[in-house]
Amino acid sequence: MSMIPPRPIAAGLRDSCYMPHVITEPCIGTKDTSCVGVCPVDCIHPSKNEPDFATTEQLYIDPDTCIDCALCVDECPVKAIFQQEDVPAEWTKYIQINLDYYKNKG
Ligand code: SF4
Ligand code: SF4
Repeated sequence: MSMIPPRPIAAGLRDSCYMPHVITEPCIGTKDTSCVGVCPVDCIHPSKNEPDFATTEQLYIDPDTCIDCALCVDECPVKAIFQQEDVPAEWTKYIQINLDYYKNKG
């Protein structure tokens, strides 16, 4: 009898570089935090009351916490937020930039 192994779905993807939603270039210079208030899992940082808000160029989405609900997408006045697979080619570097923000925070 053959056994079908379980599929390594979400957990495996997250271990590599899975990121449901990504904040991209238009946030730079806007950074109005409209997205922060609608996120049900508080995974968009830094918010205005965090120490590094003043020194970061943009906000970033925590890939380990984002539940891919897309509520933030329509809140953004400059259309900076995309599901990872829909990030425009010229802004794909922001996938890594969002990831690095949380990596570097430890
Ligand atoms: S997709 Fe949902 S969970 Fe992810 S950052 Fe946006 S509001 Fe938060
Ligand atoms: S709503 Fe858009 S521009 Fe404003 S902070 Fe969020 S991603 Fe940046």
